[in-house]
Amino acid sequence: MPRILITGAAGFLGSHLCDRFLKEGYEVVGMDNLITGDLRNLEHLFPEAAFSFYNHDVSNFIHVPGALDYILHFASPASPIDYLKIPIQTLKVGSLGTHNCLGLAKAKNARILVASTSEVYGDPMVHPQTEEYWGNVNPVGPRGVYDEAKRFQEAMTMAYHTYHGVETRIIRIFNTYGPRMRLNDGRVLPAFIGQALRGEDLTVFGDGSQTRSFCFVDDLVEGIYRLLHSDYPYPVNIGNPDEITILQFAEEIIKLTGTTQKIVHKPLPKDDPTQRQPDITKARAELGWEPKVARAEGLKITYEAFQQLPREVLYKQEHRDFEQFVRK
Ligand code: UDP
Repeated sequence: MPRILITGAAGFLGSHLCDRFLKEGYEVVGMDNLITGDLRNLEHLFPEAAFSFYNHDVSNFIHVPGALDYILHFASPASPIDYLKIPIQTLKVGSLGTHNCLGLAKAKNARILVASTSEVYGDPMVHPQTEEYWGNVNPVGPRGVYDEAKRFQEAMTMAYHTYHGVETRIIRIFNTYGPRMRLNDGRVLPAFIGQALRGEDLTVFGDGSQTRSFCFVDDLVEGIYRLLHSDYPYPVNIGNPDEITILQFAEEIIKLTGTTQKIVHKPLPKDDPTQRQPDITKARAELGWEPKVARAEGLKITYEAFQQLPREVLYKQEHRDFEQFVRK
């Protein structure tokens, strides 16, 4: 039975990865410090003999007894509001946390896949974004703590590959959505759905002409699974190229939820990328991967999951006062 360590296991993506690898017959060791993760995402796995969990911050030395065949490093705050609230931890987990994971991979002779991001492209001057594009990142802006940590992560990972011969994989993840996103993490999809469920107006930042391309979580997990098992050590974009403006997205959520609320505009956060769309030529060629779930279908599944959330989660105040985090 192959054994895999998943950092960030209690998060949105981490918990879906735990599910997938258990289903594939792996022994899964989950790790999370629960700053942004939530054990409710893993509750259903604790009875499984092949699953274990460590409450640990990977920015500190990681000790995992026994053999490891694979490591997935997914621990990190992932929403702009999270990394504005906890900027130093964000920098540390992308840099020190990655270093510790790579050191562990070397010690265990394990293959490691690290979660990078479309944020390495910053506010991109090239559209759609190919892996060859080096990006347009403001290192001292509010997003710099995440973007630069992830850029450092990629450099560190390539160095371990080149100089230590560690088997490494790098995925650049574009906007992803699905069940288990934290309702109040400030990201656009949970923000809009939460507002619709609470009967509040939908807050579009700026004029809403900025674009994103949203990928359903099951498609992303399939891409990660394929990349891990491929022999391709360079960064690969995984995302759904179906690009829309945030204003159109708000209109889709209004239609989906049937809310009678309206759209209100709020100031655009500093350094908010104006457009984002993955070029997935490499994923198609190297992994035979492409997204299968259309937005209408994925949004329906996600909305149904959010409708099941208890009232206390729906009305939790965390991050709901967005404006205090918006820097002009
Ligand atoms: N956004 C918005 N209203 C919200 C939350 C986000 O209009 O309540 C916008 C945000 O300014 C950005 C886009 O939605 O242009 C996606 O934001 P998100 O935080 O989900 O992720 P990002 O892609 O910016 O990292």
